[in-house]
Amino acid sequence: MQDDINNTKAELLIKVKHLREQLKKEHKIAAEEIERTIANVQTLSGVISICSYCKVVQNKYATYVSVEDYVTT
Ligand SMILES: [Zn+2]
Repeated sequence: MQDDINNTKAELLIKVKHLREQLKKEHKIAAEEIERTIANVQTLSGVISICSYCKVVQNKYATYVSVEDYVTT
């Protein structure tokens, strides 16, 4: 009986260990994705001036256009 409990406990500990490792991997992937997104946003905001409130973008003629117009022209 005690052996059974010990075995189950050992199995559970191994499962927990595996789950921790899996979580760590997934967390790393998510963190990298967030970092990439932030880097992209920083690149974009360094190149174009965009209003964070109404999302208009200043084009090369110094006039403000919608993001949709900006990316299609
Ligand atoms: Zn605005």
